[in-house]
Amino acid sequence: MNPNLSWWEREGLNRHADFGIVGGGITGLSAAYFLKTRVPTSRVVVLEKGARPEGATVRSAGFACFGSISELVSDVRSMGETEAYTLAGERFKGLSLLREIHGDEALEFQACGGIEVFFKEDKENGVELLAQLETVNRNLKDISGIPGTVFREMNTSELSRLNFKQLELGIINGLEGALHPQKLWNSLLGKCLALGIEYRAGIEVHHIDSGILAGNDFSLPCGQILIANNAFAQRWFPDEIKPARAQVWMSEPLSHPFPPGTFHHHEGFNYFRGHAGRLLLGGGRHIHPKAETTFSTENTEEIEQYLIGDILPRLFNGQPPKMVLSWAGTMGIGNTKQPKYGEWKPGVWTAVRMGGMGIALGTKAGQQGALHMLG
Ligand SMILES: Cc1cc2nc3c(=O)[nH]c(=O)nc-3n(C[C@H](O)[C@H](O)[C@H](O)COP(=O)(O)OP(=O)(O)OC[C@H]3O[C@@H](n4cnc5c(N)ncnc54)[C@H](O)[C@@H]3O)c2cc1C
Repeated sequence: MNPNLSWWEREGLNRHADFGIVGGGITGLSAAYFLKTRVPTSRVVVLEKGARPEGATVRSAGFACFGSISELVSDVRSMGETEAYTLAGERFKGLSLLREIHGDEALEFQACGGIEVFFKEDKENGVELLAQLETVNRNLKDISGIPGTVFREMNTSELSRLNFKQLELGIINGLEGALHPQKLWNSLLGKCLALGIEYRAGIEVHHIDSGILAGNDFSLPCGQILIANNAFAQRWFPDEIKPARAQVWMSEPLSHPFPPGTFHHHEGFNYFRGHAGRLLLGGGRHIHPKAETTFSTENTEEIEQYLIGDILPRLFNGQPPKMVLSWAGTMGIGNTKQPKYGEWKPGVWTAVRMGGMGIALGTKAGQQGALHMLG
C-alpha cells in the first residue's frame, strides 16, 4: 500500500491545473504533449496510478500495424465499409504522426512489413481474401487515404524463405513495421518532461467531476480534463468499455534468426515476431473470450497450451524453442472498435477504448483529446 502523501506532494496536487489527464500511457502522454506544445504557458498534469505505467502501452507486442487483411474484411462485415476503412486510415495516420514526432531511431522502428499467414486449414479463407485484394487496396486508397498498393500476395520464394510448416499463403503489407514499446514510452515521457509537463506516478484518480480530479489525499482543480485510461475507464463507463486480457510469451535465444516481419494469423488474434534473437508469440484470446474479459494480468494454461502447443510448432521445421518468459496486459474494448471520444460532463473529455491497435491509434487519439480540450 502507498504511504500517505506528504504535505509537499499534496501541495502540487491541490493547485489549479489548466489541463488534467488521467492515465500515463501513449494516449494520455500524447495528449499532454500536444496541449503543452499548443499552450506553452499552461500547467499540464498527468496522473498515473502505477509507479510505472500499468496499462497496455509498455506491455504491447510492438506491432506498428493498422490491420491485417482478414481483420479488415471482418471489420467491414461488422462495422460497414466506411467506418472500417476510416478507422484503418486513422491508425495509419497515427503511426505516421508517431514516427514524425519521435523519429524511427528513438522508437527502434523497423520497416519490416506485416505478414498475414495462412496455414493448411486457413487456406480457403486466404484464397477468398486474395479475390478481394484489389477492392481492399482500392478502398484503402480512396477511403482510408493510404497512398500506393497496401496488400499483395507473397510469391513462392518469399514463402519458402519463411520456412514455416504447412504454410500455404502469405499476404504482405509493406507499410507496417515493428517498434520497441518501452522506448516509445521513454521518448514520449522525455519529451513531456522537457516541455515542463508534470507527470505524477502512483496517483490514482477515484472521482471525476467537471473541474475536479480527486483521489486519496488530493483534489486537483482542473480547467479541462481528459480521461485517457483506456480499459480502466470501465469504472465510469461500465456499459461501453470492457477489459480484454492479451497474453504474450517470449522464447529462449533462437539458434537461427527469425524471419523479419510482424506476423498476423487468424484476423490478428494470433501474432508473432522475432526480437533480439528470440520469438515473441501472443494472442489466443478468441478461444476463451469470456475468460479473457478480465483485468487480471496472469497468464493462463489454456492460452499457453493453444499458443505453445498448436501455433508454435508450425513456425519451426525442427524442434521449436522453449518459451521462457510471459506477461499479459489489458486492452480496452467495447461493442465497437471505435475509440470513445467526446465530452462526458462539461469540460471532461474521453479518449479511451483503444482496442488491439492502440500503439497505432494512441498518438492521434491524444491529439484528438487535446483538440477537444482546447475547444
Ligand atoms: C499484450 C498486448 C499486446 C498489444 N500489442 C499491440 C501491438 O502490437 N500494436 C498495437 O498497436 N497495439 C497493441 N496493443 C494495444 C495497445 O497496447 C493499447 O491499445 C494502447 O497501448 C493503449 O494506450 P492507452 O494510453 O490508451 O492506454 P494504456 O496504455 O492502457 O494506459 C492507461 C494508463 O492509465 C492508468 N490508469 C488507469 N486507471 C487510472 C486511474 N484511475 N488514475 C490514474 N491512472 C490510471 C494505467 O495505469 C495506465 O498506465 C497490445 C495490448 C496488449 C495488452
